[in-house]
Amino acid sequence: MATVPDHRGWLRKQGHLMASWKQRWFVLSKGVLSYYENSSLSSLLGVIPLKGAHVERDGKVKHGIVVHTTTHSQEPSDAPRREPLRPLHSAYVVAAESPQEADTWFDMLQKHIASTTAEGMAALMASASLNSPRANEYKAAAVKEQGVAVSNYKAGTDEAKRNEMKLMKLVKEPRENGLCFECSTPMDFRTAWASINLGVFICIQCSGIHRSLGVHLSKVKMVHGDDWNDDWVAVMERWGNARAYGYWEALKPPQRPTLEDAMAQNQFLKDFIFNKYGGFGTRRFAAPCEPHEWLECLRLEAGWVRYLDEASNQFYFFHEGSGKTEWELPDEARPAERLADVPNRPGREGWMEKKSGGHSGTTKFKMMQKWDRRYFVLPKGSTVLSYYTSDEDFKLKLEALGSVECKGARVFLKGVTKEDEYRFTLVSKDRELKLRARNMADYHAWKTVLESVITDFVEDPSQDD
Ligand SMILES: [Zn+2]
Repeated sequence: MATVPDHRGWLRKQGHLMASWKQRWFVLSKGVLSYYENSSLSSLLGVIPLKGAHVERDGKVKHGIVVHTTTHSQEPSDAPRREPLRPLHSAYVVAAESPQEADTWFDMLQKHIASTTAEGMAALMASASLNSPRANEYKAAAVKEQGVAVSNYKAGTDEAKRNEMKLMKLVKEPRENGLCFECSTPMDFRTAWASINLGVFICIQCSGIHRSLGVHLSKVKMVHGDDWNDDWVAVMERWGNARAYGYWEALKPPQRPTLEDAMAQNQFLKDFIFNKYGGFGTRRFAAPCEPHEWLECLRLEAGWVRYLDEASNQFYFFHEGSGKTEWELPDEARPAERLADVPNRPGREGWMEKKSGGHSGTTKFKMMQKWDRRYFVLPKGSTVLSYYTSDEDFKLKLEALGSVECKGARVFLKGVTKEDEYRFTLVSKDRELKLRARNMADYHAWKTVLESVITDFVEDPSQDD
């Protein structure tokens, strides 16, 4: 594909919902047509994968071209098999300033579409026009990429060895790195993958979908097995999952994918990832700036600004009025907590086990306790967790077996006592629920939604019984 020159310039683009026209900066590179607000490439508005697409001249629009896409799928053949991604739009209408420009764009679009197939590529290679000096000029211009621009040099043996050691540590610490950034599946050094421009660790299932985003949005590497250069490791250190959540999920997604979604490679998981990284045109959950801007300087409440200290890779806090500097987030810099009117508090529903008869602590009663499988529901925007005999009962709107007001409740998290047993205890004003999640990923997913309601989480190994 490298021999097809890039092409870029202003085009007017017709909106999908309203038929308004907007001036956009278009970049055609490596079989993908992207468009930006302006030529500084600072805000990517959309990405149109050209694999399987076709173009035609639009007779109704002056100097118009229509790009018809078939699917969003452009994954490499070694990615796990899955059904193609649902296309968001099937026709994009653009218009050039002059007939000459329209001709050039039409020609370039056809070349890039051809380059997305092996046969098309062979035909293009044979074409002499590509050896013109102009082709090299296009090649030299780099397309700005999402996340951090990463180097592509090949690590030497020593460098790769040293970085292997670093990565081993990094996948464990901080612990968020050991849970897939998309679906929370637990991973270790041997099973983890990573996106080296986003600086996040992901599981193998999600890595397949990251690839289908295209390398301009996510560059996927295996943690164990690829030779890592120093620059890639530096990006992982600078970001890492914990920090990256702050940017990519600044506007809390209504629901996060689970291990089950990842195993099924279902549409929910794909849509979540495409929505998250702008695979459909806009980053749905990200902070309203570029990742590097968020990392380097973030305005907080009451005149505080958060900066990244390059040397220690730690955030520090600077007060503009007084010039004070703090390493810890000052209380007044925190956004005011308004639990009651958080509109996008995530909800969750799913199976968990609940310990019955947990009211008495005596040995006799403990013998009678057992784990019951129940269907738990925390509705979106609500603070009340209810449980039902089954999901059917919930769907039929039958009365819940029980409910707990989570506002003001406390949660004791228990370390894993047995293999695959993830427990926590929820204590509200009037009752106590001992709960058991099905696996670690499920446990973390519940923890995440409960944390948006309950701030009092206690790691308490003494709560064993
Ligand atoms: Zn995953």
